Amino acid sequence: MQTMLAARLHAIGEPMELEQVPVPEPRSTDVVVAVKACNIVPNLKNVLATYAEWFPYLPLPKLPAVFGLDAAGVVTEVGEQVTGVSVGDRVYVNPGLSCGGCRACRRGEDQNCDDYTFMGYFAFGPGGQRLFDAYPYGGLAEYLTAPQQNLVKLPDTVSFEAGARFGYLGTSYSALRKAGAGPGRTVLIDGISGTLGLGACLNAVALGATRILGTGRNAALLDDVKAIAPDRIDVLPAGTADVRDWAREHNDGDGVDIVIDALGPGAPAESFLHAVSALRRGGVAVDIGGMMERPQLDLFAMMCAQQSVLGSLWFSTGEAQEMAELAGTGALDLSVFEHHVFPLEEINDALDEGLPARHGGFTNFIAAPQS
Ligand SMILES: [Zn+2]
Repeated sequence: MQTMLAARLHAIGEPMELEQVPVPEPRSTDVVVAVKACNIVPNLKNVLATYAEWFPYLPLPKLPAVFGLDAAGVVTEVGEQVTGVSVGDRVYVNPGLSCGGCRACRRGEDQNCDDYTFMGYFAFGPGGQRLFDAYPYGGLAEYLTAPQQNLVKLPDTVSFEAGARFGYLGTSYSALRKAGAGPGRTVLIDGISGTLGLGACLNAVALGATRILGTGRNAALLDDVKAIAPDRIDVLPAGTADVRDWAREHNDGDGVDIVIDALGPGAPAESFLHAVSALRRGGVAVDIGGMMERPQLDLFAMMCAQQSVLGSLWFSTGEAQEMAELAGTGALDLSVFEHHVFPLEEINDALDEGLPARHGGFTNFIAAPQS
């Protein structure tokens, strides 16, 4: 039996154990992927640190478990029913699993499946463990298995390290698509220099948004974001001006079409309300950051102005493939990322404050199980 190196969590609060486990075999419609890059997403530490008290409605896998949310690599084996995917294909693995049989799944709305589950991370419903059992390998192992319909083919110009960023990138891509981002539209991104926000900025540029406005806490980081497209991007250090007035000043006196709230769970509700106040009539605010505070929305005013608020979770494999194509043409510029790659053996050190300071969303921490 062939074995592989995997980092497995056996007990809450303990380091992951680096151990040899059998290389998985693909079932008939699955593939095996050799993991070249797996993102160490900023939230993984929070998940592991709060394991015992983690949100009960977002079930975590039974231990021992292999974590690792966003993986990219090379297909090494395909099941007998797999078509359109070949050994040697460079792919990003969309970790979002759905049951396949419920009403939402049959409509093609994977993320609305009651059992929607991120392999190597956590689930959104009580049926998650069944999917963890079916796909027990996250990206912190040398190989993983995945359904063929979860694969995003990477253009040759997209590195595995950049591919491993597709989770955070795709989350903002889907949000922008739902909100109708494109030519003639203005997008305001709350938290533009963070991991999610920077992806939203790059995707807004790629989708042709005419003007992109962004707020953030760190003025130096904001300057680096503006440098991506100085003619189209304007930035505001948070708290230095009224967001509504500032947005109009930079948008020909008009409100914005789209707000993307990319601030993290700890952000104050007030910042979301400020961003919403910058919307024009008919505007859409999309939350992707998962703010925990509850904003007091003026729904009467929002009704009168036909404004809406959306929650957007992750993305479809189809949307991620579109994004890959945009990256392949160069419209989506992924060259701004600063990849810090370390071997899988160093995962515990990396999670235990062993990573260098982040340069905001530009930083991309990558474990490379197969370098
Ligand atoms: Zn389903």
